[in-house]
Amino acid sequence: MKRSTALGALILIGALSLGVKAYQPPAADAPKVIEVEKVKDNLYVLRGGGGNTAVFLTATGVVVVDAKNPGWGKPILDKIKELTPKPITTLINTHTHGDHVSGNVEFPATIDFVAQENTKANMEKMPIFKEHNGVGMTKRTFKDKMTIGKGADQIDLYYFGPGHTNGDAWVVFPALRVVHAGDIFANKGLPLIDGDNGGSVLHIHESLTKAHSGIKNVDTIINGHTPKNTTWADLQEFADFNHEFLTWAEGELKAGKTPAQAATEWKLPAKYVGYSATVPALFGGLEGRIKRLQDELKK
Ligand SMILES: [Zn+2]
Repeated sequence: MKRSTALGALILIGALSLGVKAYQPPAADAPKVIEVEKVKDNLYVLRGGGGNTAVFLTATGVVVVDAKNPGWGKPILDKIKELTPKPITTLINTHTHGDHVSGNVEFPATIDFVAQENTKANMEKMPIFKEHNGVGMTKRTFKDKMTIGKGADQIDLYYFGPGHTNGDAWVVFPALRVVHAGDIFANKGLPLIDGDNGGSVLHIHESLTKAHSGIKNVDTIINGHTPKNTTWADLQEFADFNHEFLTWAEGELKAGKTPAQAATEWKLPAKYVGYSATVPALFGGLEGRIKRLQDELKK
C-alpha cells in the first residue's frame, strides 16, 4: 500500500468513526414527509417542508396555495395524487419567500400561477426562477382583490397592505369559511418582517385589522407555519398584539433608546396566552424589527 493511500484510508476510517456520532443527513437527502390534515371534504392542509400548503378540490381541478422549500414540489404533487385524480389547474403563492414558492418550479409549466403584483416583482428577483427558465413564475396578478371561479369553487384573493412583505395575499374559500393567511399571520408571536421585500412593522397591524373587517364569514385560518389552524378571533387578537408591540417600540424610540437597547427590554404581555416569547433570529431578531420601524418612521 502506498503511503498516500494508507493515509487516505486512515483519514477515511477517522471520518467514518466520527461520522457515526456526528453525521446528520443533509436536508436535501432527508425523507420528505408531508402530513395531511383534512379541513373540509374538498380542502386539505399539507404540512412539512416549509410553509403550510392548501389543496382545494374544485369541479374542474385542483387549486394549490404555496409550494414549500426547494425540492418539495414533487412530494406535494405525489401527495395530491393520493387525494384526487383531478388535474392541477392553479398554484397561488401567498408571498415571495423561498419556503412558499420554491416548489413552484416542479409544477406543470402549463398551469395558472397567481400572486399579488408586488409578490410577482419580488419573485422575479429570485435566482430559482431564472435557473428554471421562468417555470413557476407568476402568470396572473392582482392588486387589491380578485375572484377565481364561482359558487362552491369560488376563491377570493385580497391584499390589505404591507406586513410580512409588501405582497401578502389572503386566499379565501368563501363556501368553506376558510382563509389561508400565509405568513402575515404565520404563527402566534412577533412576526417576521422582511424589510427588503417591503414588509412593515409600522403598518402590519393595520393590514391585519383591514383583513379582519374586510373579509366576511370566515371561521378557520390556515396560518403560514402553525401545526394547527387558528380562528377568526385569533386574527383580531394577533392584530391587537402587533398594535401593542408597535406602540411599545415607538415609545422606546421616542425615549431615545437605540433598537439594541430597546430589544433587551421587551417582554411578552401576559394576556397573549399561547404566544411565543422568543423572537426568531431571522431579519435581525427583535433588534432588527425595531430598526425596521425606526427606518420606516424616518420616511
Ligand atoms: Zn415568509
